[in-house]
Amino acid sequence: MDIKDIERGIIECIKKAETQLPADVIDALKKAYEIEEGVAKTQIAAILENIDLAKTSQRPMCQDTGIQTFFVDVGIDFPYVQQLKTCITNAVKTATKTIPLRPNTVDPFTGENHKDNTGNYIPYITWDITNGSDVTITAFPKGGGSENMSKLGMLKPGVGLEGVKDFVVEEMRKAGGQPCPPTVVGVGIGGGADLSLKLGKKALLRPVGVRNKNTDMAKMETELIKRINDSGIGPMGLGGKTTVLDVHVEVAHRHPASLPVGIAVQCWADRRAVMVIHADGTWEVN
Ligand code: SF4
Repeated sequence: MDIKDIERGIIECIKKAETQLPADVIDALKKAYEIEEGVAKTQIAAILENIDLAKTSQRPMCQDTGIQTFFVDVGIDFPYVQQLKTCITNAVKTATKTIPLRPNTVDPFTGENHKDNTGNYIPYITWDITNGSDVTITAFPKGGGSENMSKLGMLKPGVGLEGVKDFVVEEMRKAGGQPCPPTVVGVGIGGGADLSLKLGKKALLRPVGVRNKNTDMAKMETELIKRINDSGIGPMGLGGKTTVLDVHVEVAHRHPASLPVGIAVQCWADRRAVMVIHADGTWEVN
């Protein structure tokens, strides 16, 4: 495998995520534009113009280019697993200079900024093992404003699913305009504290407008979309019909004494791009 070529592919993947929103997100924003009026319509128009400018100029769509986050599915027969982490880290360092990206990694103790978007645990990579010999890398740069609105609720199981829904709606009401709405909200229910938050974030990888295959969970998603949008928070918190573009729910089994709910929030800059690497070292960015 040509390591430098793979790094080039990962840089292309990061650049695509930073400069081009996926079609499902743009479609949802265009639908929001159709139904909004007044200042809300103006805000969505500005967001859509921003998206166009980012694509044509090949510049990041937001000044906050995020914490470099990746979800990597590694086929069990992929022959170059050992090199992948180094490839991703090197690609982040180079992408920081060439795209360029804002240096966003700060040491919590010293305040030192590493200036290359790497540091302890960063880039943050979630690894999963899958069948086959391909590797799928999803670049998911995560902005701080929306990340700050993440929430963990260790609810009492007695509150049931109604309590879960009330918790999510209340937290999104409290978030108001801070996560740069319209947002996409990922809700992880069950597991332990860490798993619920992880599920919430992974739920954000599902395309906007795609419902959970489980009909009960799909029903909860639809209800949450309506209830959060009924809040009237609207685009950028300035009032309107569209506070969320979508809500995605995922579940894990839980301890009988626990009902964890992890909320992950993604802003209108719902950035993600996917790269597939084959066993022979060829790749494509989708
Ligand atoms: S929340 Fe999103 S749109 Fe708002 S500043 Fe952060 S990255 Fe940019």
